[in-house]
Amino acid sequence: MRSAQYAELCTEQCDSSAHAQMDASTQEDCHEDYIMNSTDPDPDAEAYMNFIKKHCCYDAIPTSCKLVIFDTTLQVKKAFFALVANGLRAAPLWDNKQQRFVGMLTITDFINILHRYYKSPMVQIYELEEHKIETWRDIYLQYQDQCLVSITPDASLFDAVYSLLKHKIHRLPVIDPESGNVLHILTHKRILKFLYLFGGMVSKPRFLKMQIKDAAIGTFTDIATVRQTATVFDALTVFVERRVSALPVVDEDGKVVALYSRFDVINLAAQKTYNNLSMSMQEAVRRRRCFVEGVIKCYPDETLETVIDRIVKAEVHRLVLVDRDDMVRGIISLSDLLQAIVLSPAGIDALFS
Ligand code: ADP
Ligand code: ADP
Ligand code: AMP
Repeated sequence: MRSAQYAELCTEQCDSSAHAQMDASTQEDCHEDYIMNSTDPDPDAEAYMNFIKKHCCYDAIPTSCKLVIFDTTLQVKKAFFALVANGLRAAPLWDNKQQRFVGMLTITDFINILHRYYKSPMVQIYELEEHKIETWRDIYLQYQDQCLVSITPDASLFDAVYSLLKHKIHRLPVIDPESGNVLHILTHKRILKFLYLFGGMVSKPRFLKMQIKDAAIGTFTDIATVRQTATVFDALTVFVERRVSALPVVDEDGKVVALYSRFDVINLAAQKTYNNLSMSMQEAVRRRRCFVEGVIKCYPDETLETVIDRIVKAEVHRLVLVDRDDMVRGIISLSDLLQAIVLSPAGIDALFS
């Protein structure tokens, strides 16, 4: 794989400009000092929610981006190789018989296929070599009713956040109702970045000054982790059974040494190493060619504002909450943040409980 393609895999598949125009003056840090001990209701508590409600999905779509669509008769292996070759994380699926989009193919599907059919390093995964996307979907979806979740360009970004969190998905295709074309695939990352870049003109809610340990935003118990001595197959098992998007990799003392996300599993396709899932996590982490240096963390006494700033700038889906000894204490993901700053102010309770 060419290095340029790896570079593309590292970024969100869109330029940073969006259809909404940003006034330079709105970038100024216009917030006042917060009175944290005030018992008065915060007049700005709903500011981000209102901002997100006022803007539509079209506003957050980049002016150009790459989009690949797969016909459901394509072989799954070719489809994953095509994702790698195009530096993409997901693609909408087109059913030619039904003449409509029927779903998405994401790295989670790659993980599910590997986990279900892998036997040993000596045995090729026949199903990955032979199955078409439609064959896989017939097997995988037989006990589930998973229709395509999509949104229209004129729907609000609030509805997009609600849909991503309600359905527990990470890819939301924006489909033009007139042409039926997919215009873009929205993600939590894109939406929070839009809010971060263009929401500068709204007054900041007071709760941004709260420390993480008091704000209770994120997951703090039963964190799924993986030991660096565990195998890649062990990690895939945790992905499948716990349905988490990433695993802090820990050493024998429980200290975090790396972060392995579902996205990283695509390296197995890029490097054609998916037949050897007995590889250790230490090895899998070392072999990644496209990754973020170190672990992007946060500490319990840091504020929500600092956390948002760090997660947006690092362009990652979550921060690992650690104590001063680097022991894992929690995960703060974009889902948690969007729930807290957009849905909770609208009275919508946590969609993850
Ligand atoms: P990833 O984090 O790997 O990109 P997701 O969490 O979005 O993937 O996907 C989880 C599962 O949901 C996958 O089987 C994927 O095909 C499916 N899926 C993802 N997005 C949608 C969508 N918009 N509509 C229907 N199914 C989806
Ligand atoms: P996606 O854009 O599909 O949501 P992720 O943000 O999960 O992808 O992962 C993109 C890359 O960033 C992966 O290589 C992953 O290991 C890395 N990454 C994600 N979160 C962190 C983190 N907190 N610390 C270090 N690396 C991270
Ligand atoms: P995500 O899939 O990352 O958008 O997150 C969905 C929910 O799962 C959020 O509440 C996260 O805090 C939580 N979560 C993510 N990763 C983990 C993990 N490794 N262990 C426990 N919870 C997690």
